[in-house]
Amino acid sequence: SKTSDKLSEFLESGVYRLEDSNAVFIDPVRVLNRSYTRFRVSPSAYYSRSFDSKHAGQEARVSSNFRKRKRKEKKPQPLNDRERAADQRHQEVRPFLLKAHESLVRATELLEVVSNLKGNLCPSTSSPGAEQSLVELGRVWQAPLYEITLNFHPNDNAREDGGAPTIQYDEQRAFPVFNNLVVNETSEDVEAELLNSRYILPPESSFYMSDLGQIHNLIPAESDCGFNLIVIDPPWENGSARQKQRYSTLPNRYFLSLPVKQICHTDGALVALWVTNREKLRGFVEKELFPAWGVKYVATFFWLKVKADGSLISDLDLFHHRPYECLLLGLVHGKVTDSKQLSSTKPILLDNQIMLSIPGGYSRKPPIAGLLHEYAPRLQRGRCIELFAREMTAGWISWGNEPLHFQESINFMKT
Ligand code: SAM
Repeated sequence: SKTSDKLSEFLESGVYRLEDSNAVFIDPVRVLNRSYTRFRVSPSAYYSRSFDSKHAGQEARVSSNFRKRKRKEKKPQPLNDRERAADQRHQEVRPFLLKAHESLVRATELLEVVSNLKGNLCPSTSSPGAEQSLVELGRVWQAPLYEITLNFHPNDNAREDGGAPTIQYDEQRAFPVFNNLVVNETSEDVEAELLNSRYILPPESSFYMSDLGQIHNLIPAESDCGFNLIVIDPPWENGSARQKQRYSTLPNRYFLSLPVKQICHTDGALVALWVTNREKLRGFVEKELFPAWGVKYVATFFWLKVKADGSLISDLDLFHHRPYECLLLGLVHGKVTDSKQLSSTKPILLDNQIMLSIPGGYSRKPPIAGLLHEYAPRLQRGRCIELFAREMTAGWISWGNEPLHFQESINFMKT
């Protein structure tokens, strides 16, 4: 069958602009793979949760239980003030989300590819827990002694006896892995070794693995060395005890002291904050957190989660199980944002932009670095940082207590 220009562009970029709405469909695997040189993110590892029939069934059961319970409760409970505010927020964005989803359903050529995004690969046998131990290792007194070895400039040497080629490296360097900025400054993927695990570091990427207590080390000595684009996905506390936590969470007040203002570039910065749908949290961000950081709210983007068949992961109107998450965008003013030079960067005119994708691992957000780039205030090449990151991005610094989580080699294939 004939492939449209739009579809072939999607196959290249991983981004498909949907008709008649402020929405894009994203294939995170394709987006991520644009920046890797020697390795490929494995679709079966990325999508293991969404395509795994066992998990898909669980999600379905959760929603039907909700529905059953709803039906039994004959008389509708009156909403309290907070619930009413949450519902109003939902009603405001609902038409945009519906329109975006309808556009996806109409994009039949895209859906055909989407249903097969995972490919025909074997399900990956992931080894959970390995990363958790790095979080714990960072806390022991010996933490400063642990080193990660970066292997630069590989030589694939064919063996004379015809056996499997052995890889040799022209250069190996070891760095303290905790409380230290580890940098791959090359334009190639780099393989790294730590204890018994291997990790793949994308080109021109860095990580700083530490606890929140050490975050002040990210504050640049010179204010014009700060960041123009800051993505933050905090470990918000989750009200529902039913939800299994894969990482430890922190009370809201801890985030008030994040040095967002101090790590911003003097030109100004775009701050993108992932939030949950809890109304109490939204109030906290608007009234306390953004003001404390010196961030001025600008717009909200939405991540609408779909299944491989294009349907939403849960009913759009399920109160406690929304199929979307919100990304709040704000600006920290600086030299550029205050002057007319801002016109050189695309202003955020579009509120309610929607990104659709099939979710990856638990709480893993889609890669939006590219989408945000065009909105960040900057004069030259921008500097970018992700806080509470669990993966690395080409051209970015990743900070958190487990920034290597999704960089483990089980998530990759050799090209
Ligand atoms: N954006 C990530 C992704 O897409 O995979 C998910 C981030 S998750 C919501 C929050 C992260 O904060 C987890 O990796 C967790 O381990 C980390 N975290 C929790 N407490 C921390 C602390 N005290 N210091 C540093 N990181 C912490």
